Amino acid sequence: MQTGSGAGPEKPDVALSLEATDLAWGPPGRAPLISGVSFALTPGDRLAIVGPNGAGKSTLLRCLYRLHRPLAGAVRVGGTDLWSLAPRLAARKIAAVLQEAPGDFAFTVQEMVDAGRTPHAGGIAGRAAGARAVAAAMRRMEVSHLAGRAFSTLSGGEKQRALIARALAQEPGVLVLDEPTNHLDIRHRLEAVELLRGLAMTIVTTLHDLDMAADVASKVLVLRAGRQMAFGPVSGTLQPALIRQSFDVEAEIAPRGPSLRFDYRLPERRADSSAESSE
Ligand code: ADP
Ligand code: MG
Repeated sequence: MQTGSGAGPEKPDVALSLEATDLAWGPPGRAPLISGVSFALTPGDRLAIVGPNGAGKSTLLRCLYRLHRPLAGAVRVGGTDLWSLAPRLAARKIAAVLQEAPGDFAFTVQEMVDAGRTPHAGGIAGRAAGARAVAAAMRRMEVSHLAGRAFSTLSGGEKQRALIARALAQEPGVLVLDEPTNHLDIRHRLEAVELLRGLAMTIVTTLHDLDMAADVASKVLVLRAGRQMAFGPVSGTLQPALIRQSFDVEAEIAPRGPSLRFDYRLPERRADSSAESSE
C-alpha cells in the first residue's frame, strides 16, 4: 500500500473532532457492557483503544460508528450529536473498517470499494469525484489489480486492504478501525502503521498490541470489563501500574529505540488472580 511520503499528492483529508461523554451501551434489559466512557479528540488525533479480550472495545467502536445507540451519554462528531444526523450524513463523517463483513462476500473488490461512495451525492460531478476517490483509495491500498476479483476469494490481508480502501473512498472525517492489523503479514502490518500515521483524518482504532498502539497513536484509551481505566497521551498513560491493573500482567517499559516498547511477564502469584474471565 502506498503510504506517507511515498503516496504522492493525495486529496487532503478533512479531519473532524470526536467526543464521547459518559457513554454507556448494553443489550436491552441487560447490564451495560460499557459505561462511563469519556474522551475528546481534536481533528487529526489518532486514538488507540486497548484492553483485554472481551473488555468492550468493539462494543465501544459500534457506538462511535452509529450502530449502537447509547443508553446514556453522547457521541459528537465535528461538534454535532451523531444521532441527530441522518444515517447517510453520519456515514459521510465516520467510516468503519470492521473485522467481520458477512454481507460483502458476493461482491467484487471494485464493487466493494465503489460502495464507499454510497453516502455521497450523485450527479455527474459527484460521480466523477467518486470515481477519482475510489481509484485513489485502491491505488493507495494496492488493490487496483484485484478490482475484478470476488472479495470472497481474497486472502485475509487482501480483504483487509480492500476494506480499508472502501473506507478511504468514503472520505470520512473520522476513520474507525477494529483490529486492522489482525490478518496482515509483517510487511503489511508495518505499512498499515505508516498508513494510519499518514492519514490526516481523525483515527480511532482498537489494537491488542501496546507496542503498536505506541507506534500508531497519539492518544490511548484503556478499557477493562467495560470500564474506562484511562484516557490520555500514549506516553505518560501506558505506565506499568496501569498495564498491570488492566491486563493482569507485569510490565516494564523497555528502553529500546525511539518509540515506546514494553516487556511483559505473568504476575508471580497466578493463583491469586481474581480477575473476571472475560471470554
Ligand atoms: P472486545 O472487542 O474488547 O474483545 P467486545 O466489545 O466484542 O469486546 O465484547 C465485550 C463483551 O460483551 C463480550 O463478553 C461479548 O460477548 C459481549 N457482547 C458484545 N456484544 C454483545 C451483544 N450485542 N449482546 C450481548 N453481549 C454482547
Ligand atoms: Mg473486539
